[in-house]
Amino acid sequence: MSAPTYDLGKLHGGIRLESGKSAATRNSIQKMPLPAQLIIPITQHVGDPAHSIVTIGERVLKGQLIAEPGGSLSAPVHASSSGKVVAIEPWPVSRRYGANAPCIVIECDGEDRAIEPAVTQAAYDMLSADELLARILQGGIVGLGGAVFPTAQKLMQALTCDLKYLLLNGVECEPYISCDDMLMREYAREVLGGARILMHALQLDVCYIVVESDKPLALQSLGEQLAELGDKRIVLKQVPTIYPSGGEDQLVQLVTNLEVPSGGLPTDVGCLVQNVGTASAIYDWIVHGKPLLSRVTTVTGDGVVNPMNVEARIGTLVGDIIRFAGGYTESAQQLIIGGPMTGKSMSTDLVPLVKASNCILVLSRAPSIGAKSPCIRCGDCAAVCPVQLLPQQLYWYSCADDEKKLRLHGLTDCIECGCCDLVCPSHIPLTAEFRVAKARIQEQADEKARAERARSRFEARNERIESEQRARDAELEQQRATAKRIGPAEIAAILQRKQQQQDKD
Ligand code: SF4
Ligand code: SF4
Repeated sequence: MSAPTYDLGKLHGGIRLESGKSAATRNSIQKMPLPAQLIIPITQHVGDPAHSIVTIGERVLKGQLIAEPGGSLSAPVHASSSGKVVAIEPWPVSRRYGANAPCIVIECDGEDRAIEPAVTQAAYDMLSADELLARILQGGIVGLGGAVFPTAQKLMQALTCDLKYLLLNGVECEPYISCDDMLMREYAREVLGGARILMHALQLDVCYIVVESDKPLALQSLGEQLAELGDKRIVLKQVPTIYPSGGEDQLVQLVTNLEVPSGGLPTDVGCLVQNVGTASAIYDWIVHGKPLLSRVTTVTGDGVVNPMNVEARIGTLVGDIIRFAGGYTESAQQLIIGGPMTGKSMSTDLVPLVKASNCILVLSRAPSIGAKSPCIRCGDCAAVCPVQLLPQQLYWYSCADDEKKLRLHGLTDCIECGCCDLVCPSHIPLTAEFRVAKARIQEQADEKARAERARSRFEARNERIESEQRARDAELEQQRATAKRIGPAEIAAILQRKQQQQDKD
């Protein structure tokens, strides 16, 4: 087995949190049986919504395309099993905190018949980077770490940069979530296969697979597979268990000692970061022709009877997955999709599992937050901030709605990790305030962009009207000039010629 290496850069701030992961990692990944119905959200990615291409009553096969990408940062959606489309209607989704979004409802026929692959599978190293990227796009693959950025577009952007390293993120630093840990233990071959496909697409010779020190079994499994593969370009890196070392910029800093510039991307310093689950999904699609139809998710917390990791079809209702894990305990109080630090609180379990759903967390009590009191300027929030921001100042600027100062002090770099909240002795809801401020700034930017587009359209229209008017004026001028050149003698000659023509007729 290849031993993981430890030559790491230093992460600023961060917190050591109680992991809460052991309950769900006692057993292997459990495969959930096919449900009777699948509720598949049309949009499961950042960027423009996809468009449904099926109709009610239509029969679909597993893997069939049911929604096409609707823009540059959009991704296709496939039927997770065979059956009949019985509705295309709004349904509560986790992306919108339980508010409705358009979904395709498929009544499963239980046969799970798959569509014939549209393209024959070829050895990935026989395909060019463009061909691989086009195929990855067709597979509906998005970042499975939670960001759901369409993978093909991320790779396309990376290809325009001077890349040096591919980093596979197996850190999974947020408490309770263990789906990547289990995936690396049980699907190490797929993860490594995905890494090699990505390296081929990006023409890279260095890949670091980064795993936290609290996942020895994942490291062991990856190490054994790597030894078998004998690919010296892939190196395992173990990082300390500190939250939030799994943030993209923090991971780059930890592993390469390179600092992603404010407002920049890891590709600015030659790094591309992909989640280990995404790499595995790429392998399944490129090598076996299996689009992204299911995912491993952690169902856990003291509000679940049998915490576990479950592989379930996209579109399975969260309530059904919890029932599969033994159901709710009597004390269950709070449902969160995602982890306790960055997840979304839900008031219903009728939301479907989507590509982004890495965890279903049920807690027996909501975290107790003390009463908010004034800031005592202790500086603890700044000490733990992994982005080296000054949360207490940002909070003041946010309360004063001072967009200029918020930008100046790097609000847009805030990764909403929640570390500052955890340590604040005054119980100030800093992260929630930052989320609202960022949304407000984004809204203002969108509004500005809309106004700019409207102004450009207005100016273009005026320009067109003025240009048409100038052309008309020039034509009139030309006619007048021509009329001036025709004198009485020419007019008499024209009339005479006309008369002669009439006499002849
Ligand atoms: S939520 Fe933002 S400001 Fe607070 S610690 Fe995290 S990155 Fe820093
Ligand atoms: S941790 Fe809380 S009290 Fe301390 S400086 Fe930050 S905001 Fe103020």
